[in-house]
Amino acid sequence: MKPVCVLGNGQLGRMLRQAGEPLGIAVYPVGIDAEPESLPIRESVITAEIERWPETPLTQALASHPAFVNRDIFPRLADRLTQKQLLDQLGLATAPWQLLSDAAQWPDVFKRLGDLAIVKRRTGGYDGRGQWRLRESDCQTLPEECYGECIVEQGIDFSGEVSLVGARGHDGTLVFYPLTHNLHHNGILLCSVALPEPDAAQQRQAEAMLTAIMQELDYVGVMAMECFITPEGLLINELAPRVHNSGHWTQNGASISQFALHLRAITGLPLPEPVVFAPSVMVNLIGCALDTQWLSHPLVHLHWYDKEVRPGRKLGHLNLTDSHTLRLQQELRALACRLPAEYAAAIDWACEKL
Ligand code: ATP
Ligand code: MG
Repeated sequence: MKPVCVLGNGQLGRMLRQAGEPLGIAVYPVGIDAEPESLPIRESVITAEIERWPETPLTQALASHPAFVNRDIFPRLADRLTQKQLLDQLGLATAPWQLLSDAAQWPDVFKRLGDLAIVKRRTGGYDGRGQWRLRESDCQTLPEECYGECIVEQGIDFSGEVSLVGARGHDGTLVFYPLTHNLHHNGILLCSVALPEPDAAQQRQAEAMLTAIMQELDYVGVMAMECFITPEGLLINELAPRVHNSGHWTQNGASISQFALHLRAITGLPLPEPVVFAPSVMVNLIGCALDTQWLSHPLVHLHWYDKEVRPGRKLGHLNLTDSHTLRLQQELRALACRLPAEYAAAIDWACEKL
């Protein structure tokens, strides 16, 4: 098996490494301070767990490597302007949007987009950072440096958020997981629910959209597409050319995890459609210290990233899967007592989705 070098050494790189173990694929997550001599760069397949990286001799060597899969796609999707342009070009529905280049545009923006404007940094935002929710009365509070560096979108009154995680192989094979329902709190993913039998019309629409995107880009590997559910159908919120937080449930709730699927796709291994046998719930552990009592719940799979505990930081996640829905709900309710108070509403939401 060919080794894989991953640009970035956060939790996604760590979980790719873990998924490589049983396949006999040595995965090397690469931070900016890594020693090039310790890496089998020449014979590796190169991938990334982040969309942008600082320029160093090492990242340059990886980014210019002939075996860097999807190399030219990262900059195109990392900039929200060019990402939205791609979706427009493909005729795929998104929130109405425009480039925000000047404060003089505000009256037109509100006329065109409605009462609530969502301003997003073109590059570098994540987990709701680099994002402003503005009404006409407070648009002057936007920092001056945002103009030209941001897009502005219509605030969508969605009934829910879903994401589709899929993969494409070098030979054009396409496979998808069932849609994942996602609950965000302050712009950060808190909880996901996936069902083996998703809404058929939504699944069909989402697969058609992500197929068009991956085909157009000649993309290889796992890609995630986040969507808003509206009465008119799905609107694409954003794309991630990598494994994604909303696909973490697949580690324990599918026959092939998104991490193994990505490694298979980029190294040219067989890519059958993953089988999903039961409902799954993923709870992100955000800013809270490790509690080993989570492990006293038999359905809980703990994935702890070994990072320093800081408020608002993704530190790990819990996956729970069971074909017996009632038992899954009971265990989630019991688990809620061992989580910070703000999780209670998320657990209620998950129990209701099941
Ligand atoms: P991620 O961590 O997923 O990369 P992000 O910070 O890059 O997130 P988005 O996914 O664009 O940014 O936004 C985060 C959340 O903010 C969305 O999941 C959604 O809940 C809310 N949001 C974003 N855009 C809109 C919109 N146009 N209308 C309403 N809510 C929105
Ligand atoms: Mg997002």
